[in-house]
Amino acid sequence: MKVPLVDLRAAFEPIRDQVMRGFDASLEQMQLFLGPNVTAFEREFASFCECRHGIGVSSGTDALVCALKACGVGAGDEVIVPSLTFFATIEAVIHVGATPVFVDVEPERLSLNVDEISAALSPATAAIVPVHLYGFPADMDPILEIAGDLDLRVIEDAAQAHGARYKGRRCGSIGDVACFSFYFTKNLGAVGEGGFVATSKPEIAEHARLLRDHGHTSKYEHALVGYNFRLDELQAVVLRAKLERLEDGNLRRNAIAQIYRSRLDLPEITHLAPHDDFESAYHLYPIRVRERDALRAHLERAGIGSGIHYPVPAQRQPALQAHTHRAGDMPVAEAACKELLSIPIYPELSEEQLAAVIDAVTSFFEP
Ligand SMILES: *Cc1c(COP(=O)(O)O)cnc(C)c1O
Repeated sequence: MKVPLVDLRAAFEPIRDQVMRGFDASLEQMQLFLGPNVTAFEREFASFCECRHGIGVSSGTDALVCALKACGVGAGDEVIVPSLTFFATIEAVIHVGATPVFVDVEPERLSLNVDEISAALSPATAAIVPVHLYGFPADMDPILEIAGDLDLRVIEDAAQAHGARYKGRRCGSIGDVACFSFYFTKNLGAVGEGGFVATSKPEIAEHARLLRDHGHTSKYEHALVGYNFRLDELQAVVLRAKLERLEDGNLRRNAIAQIYRSRLDLPEITHLAPHDDFESAYHLYPIRVRERDALRAHLERAGIGSGIHYPVPAQRQPALQAHTHRAGDMPVAEAACKELLSIPIYPELSEEQLAAVIDAVTSFFEP
């Protein structure tokens, strides 16, 4: 049985008719420039995130650039980032002219190690960007405490965490501002590119909204130098349809995670540790195994897709050789990168597919 790592077609089938009707209506009106669906989606997703304001943008990466700029982060500033993340987190910091300062992750859930933040601070530190990696919330309270003491901005990278909760609060509503991605494979995915800036701070929202569309205050007036970071109307049609199913989808992801934890409870496998107060959105399900590459090859022969998130810590990417950054030793991230293997987790995964994944993984260790 074939089990892909993600199944975009299966996610689209149930909303096909709704989306096609929405496309028809939009194209009939040709209201494609920040039209009614973008406006409605901004309201709906901000409300889902328990935030007052939401700005639809062109990607998660652009959301990060927009949020950093809207927080006033720029040249001369340092920004604390985790060593284990998708590279876009780091790119955004560099794009606004700031310097990324890397902090290792903690071993339980591989999010920013809050105990190591203080050693990374300097008088130039302006912001902290915790990443809710794989859908697990980062430990936000100690981060907010450090930020509060030093007047730093907290920008949540929630690109993998649509719907996750930290101590009852939605990821995306905890820091000053949060960034989401609607890349195809994310828990809430467009059929093109898209992203979102969520905040309850009116001044950040207003600044981000201006940045998103060339600083336009009226047709011929530009209040600031911005970007073309607009979310398009057709993506908003898809996102509205998928948002209605997000909560159910996340419940199913949680159920699958629980099954993996109990059925793949083998001495050779380390699972990331669930935490009662940290409700994961289970965007990914990475397990840790010593023989990662051999297991991956074994799964491939059995028709099971898998992925590596991520094979190297961000600070060791060749691109960073040309950019100023600060990083000490990152033993936890280094070790994790050699062992991580993501196995399929998505709402449409059937019972048969789930059983096939479990059989294939188990047969590697117990042939
Ligand atoms: C996907 C992702 C991004 C970037 O989002 P795009 O929409 O692909 O630009 C940023 N940070 C993290 C952690 C991501 O997973």
